[in-house]
Amino acid sequence: MNTNGFDFDQNTRDVLEALCKRGSLPHAIIIESADAQKAAQAAKWLSMYAVCTADDKPCGECAGCHKAQSKTHPDINYPKTTNKSNTYDIDAMRSLIADAYIIPNEANAKVYIFEQADARFTDITQNAFLKLLEEPPRNVYFILICQSALSLLITIRSRCTVLRLKGSIQPEEAALTPAREIVNGILSPREYELMLALRVLSDKKQAEAVLAAVKLLLRDATALLCGAEPIADRELASKLAARFTKQKLIEMAQLCDSAAGTIKQNVNINLLTTWLCGEFRRISWQR
Ligand SMILES: [Zn+2]
Repeated sequence: MNTNGFDFDQNTRDVLEALCKRGSLPHAIIIESADAQKAAQAAKWLSMYAVCTADDKPCGECAGCHKAQSKTHPDINYPKTTNKSNTYDIDAMRSLIADAYIIPNEANAKVYIFEQADARFTDITQNAFLKLLEEPPRNVYFILICQSALSLLITIRSRCTVLRLKGSIQPEEAALTPAREIVNGILSPREYELMLALRVLSDKKQAEAVLAAVKLLLRDATALLCGAEPIADRELASKLAARFTKQKLIEMAQLCDSAAGTIKQNVNINLLTTWLCGEFRRISWQR
């Protein structure tokens, strides 16, 4: 299995290898992952596999592979939404269906990659799309990327092969550093340290990413308590896990979500950080 140019983790590699063992792709695939980037990479790799002309697919060398890699292959489509609600409307779906029955331009296959399928497909467009899945044109592959396959209709799901990629989202390093300070503040007996660390949230642009990173660090600790491997910071996860129960960690993670929601509205950031500090400490110390 050639994955040159792709930065796949072992999990993704295993899932793709298992899928390609039989030598051909299923015509409809759902890639489910909380990490959209990771899912998009896997979809791109599968599209290369579909259009590659070499025996050992995907070779990464042929014209088809190169075009798939640069998203310029005329037979690999990434359908876009055109309406304000960022969903596929029925007219767009109908023309897509008509297009799917037209023979490919260059390759022996055609691929449609639907990003954010769970958000972009409405029930109506799913029902139209279903007809296509029921009588799939030859050598046409549909790849639907979504966070949760459960948000698609069961009739669609039952006709697709579902690939589950581990949904770990790697936070940006820039957000992880202040997030670690906040977590150390939560662990510190001195309220002042937490208050100081929370100041970073006054930069609204960064606040959301920092809170997401704090949540990830807290989730790491929960994972550790459940016997799973932490993603971002094992040492910090161990400290949190030694100190707090799973319930408390979950409560703190939820607190990050509500703070992120509040920041989007125009709140006074000083009031927010004071409230957040108080809540973290209340959860820490409650019995
Ligand atoms: Zn190739």
